Amino acid sequence: MQLQRSLFDDIDEIKSGEQESMPNAQPTGEAARIVELREMLNRHNHNYYVLNQPTISDQEFDHLMRELQELEAKHPEMADPLSPTQRVGSDLSQGFKQVTHERPMMSLGNSYSIEEVQDFLRRAKDGLGGEPVEIVGEMKYDGTSISITYENGRLVRAVTRGDGVRGDDVTANVITIKSIPLQLPAGTDYPSRFEVRGEILMPWASFERLNKERAFNEEPLFANPRNAAAGTLKMQNSAEVARRGLDAYFYFLLGDNLPYSTHTQAMEAVSSWGFKTAHTQVLDSIDEVSTFIEHWDKERKALPVATDGLVFKLNSLRQWLNLGATAKSPRWAIAYKFAPERECTKLKFVSYEVGRTGVITPVANLEPVLLSGTVVKRASLHNEDIIRQLDIHDGDMVYVEKGGEIIPKIVGVDNTQRESGAQPLRFVTHCPVCGTPLKRIEGEAAWVCPNKWGCKPQITGRIEHFVGRHAMNIDGIGEEVAVQLHDSGLVNDVADLYTLSVDRLIQLDRFQLKSAQRIMRGIEQSRLVPFERVIFALSIQFVGETTAKVLARNVHNIDRLMSMSADELAAIPEIGPKIAQSIVEHFAEPANCDIVERLRWAGLQMALSEKELASHTTKLEGKKIVISGVFQQHSREEYKAMIEQNGGKNVSSISKATSFILAGENMGPAKMEKAAKLGIEIINEEQFLNMLE
Ligand code: AMP
Ligand code: ZN
Repeated sequence: MQLQRSLFDDIDEIKSGEQESMPNAQPTGEAARIVELREMLNRHNHNYYVLNQPTISDQEFDHLMRELQELEAKHPEMADPLSPTQRVGSDLSQGFKQVTHERPMMSLGNSYSIEEVQDFLRRAKDGLGGEPVEIVGEMKYDGTSISITYENGRLVRAVTRGDGVRGDDVTANVITIKSIPLQLPAGTDYPSRFEVRGEILMPWASFERLNKERAFNEEPLFANPRNAAAGTLKMQNSAEVARRGLDAYFYFLLGDNLPYSTHTQAMEAVSSWGFKTAHTQVLDSIDEVSTFIEHWDKERKALPVATDGLVFKLNSLRQWLNLGATAKSPRWAIAYKFAPERECTKLKFVSYEVGRTGVITPVANLEPVLLSGTVVKRASLHNEDIIRQLDIHDGDMVYVEKGGEIIPKIVGVDNTQRESGAQPLRFVTHCPVCGTPLKRIEGEAAWVCPNKWGCKPQITGRIEHFVGRHAMNIDGIGEEVAVQLHDSGLVNDVADLYTLSVDRLIQLDRFQLKSAQRIMRGIEQSRLVPFERVIFALSIQFVGETTAKVLARNVHNIDRLMSMSADELAAIPEIGPKIAQSIVEHFAEPANCDIVERLRWAGLQMALSEKELASHTTKLEGKKIVISGVFQQHSREEYKAMIEQNGGKNVSSISKATSFILAGENMGPAKMEKAAKLGIEIINEEQFLNMLE
């Protein structure tokens, strides 16, 4: 049998090592304590993450975890990749190996009404020669599917659905998900080898936290928890996966000669082994099916995870076998899809927020309403044009939907409920913070407060941006501290940060010596932050992280950047006329040039270093490159960095615009086919490295 490589090679070695040192012996002393601690921590993990009923405090848990970590450090011979201490993940990068599913992972047929569910049942009965059927209903979780294999109670492999035939081996990421048992509890009657299938999900709470963080770092937001879960599961860094708080629910059990005759029995067993399951319920009549749908269409909104419908399955596993499947989906199950979630609530008032760049965002403040598991009180109205299109009046009843953004959006108005005499909503004409008359940027929907140097949220917003993780990475200055620094008169622009000292900081209200020292350490270290991130930190409109990189690589130093004309800038690949114009305007302002001079004087990196200059080429200029498969000489991350350093662009999917594919071993068949169809060249590691020589 093909065993999982990367992770479980080690287990074999460890196991054989163990046998040599202590043949058949029961572990004693510290070794026994390790075993005991692992069992205890597994149990507490299950109580906490599956049952939601912790029986010990977080501190006690941490205490046990620390004891185990210390003992494991002392006894490397007892290392186990499935120990609870390994749930934190590692930041070693992993190329994903492709694995063929033992049984293909199919999708489900869809239905949208009770009549369609009835049709499905009729077809199933006919297919079984008129035999009676028992039906079960369960939640349809909206995440990304996973297949996990267990051998002798230990998790051995977790594979994504992929194309249904082959998927990616994401074991190292999956074992960081705390509600998934790694080692089934002793004494339970699990089969020696089985596969469970379920859905990996990002709970609403984690999703919102993640998107907030990403918005702050100006990274693209995830459109929904499904995309977030799928993206997270494919990350190279399992420590980051662990941090993101994924969860999982299971709805299929597969294996040879399993001792169950119904799906409910199988799910009860799966649940008793410590997995979260999909709330399987037997439904005795079509009326019960109807009630089940009505019930969950409401109740699902309070669930902590996203659902997009229900799944109805026949309960008899023998009938599953008899009915079989079409090319795409089984004949013994069907999905029932809910209409997207939307609620109607009252608009209390509209507030206007001023961003770092002066753009004014209208925000609807609503009567609180429950939507997709969270209470919604605010919704974005985006801009004046949208308000006009929706024809919103004061105090309207509005429809709210949760889209991709963190803040839900208003999608319509119920004007039958409009109060007589209600006035259409009018956009503010002056900045709500500093009172300056607003300006509308030509060709854009946004209104802007032009008082860049005197409007507080713009000033503090630029400070927050400057210290951000992807810019100068100065820890300890959040929104509150930025406002405090500004209000105290210590920091009026980002260059003033470099005049701070511990003494000055601790004179501020409620400022601790420790936090002052942390900030000063960050400021000190920021002098080494590379030039490209300095450009990003300057808050030049339209210059995000990627554009900053392109600029650094092409212009090499700040003096050149400041003196270039819009035409010269626009001649750089990937820099459009809008960005070029914005850069020229930025440096036409004396205050901005002054900031650059003071930052230069403070010792920031205002040019590419010699080393960066040497490693940057334009050999891949304008090339769009897809990376696929597993590599021998460098990691995927390293290849990505090489592509960028040489002026190329790493893209994720194959299209006509792809220049070539950098392929390692095991490139997926679907990609192979697509490349052949579009006639795109495939280049292996050696050829690629030769290109860069
Ligand atoms: P779709 O992707 O819309 O064709 O729906 C099929 C997918 O629904 C399956 O591949 C599973 O990933 C997912 N799913 C979610 N909950 C369930 C469930 N309770 N039973 C079966 N599949 C489910
Ligand atoms: Zn203003």
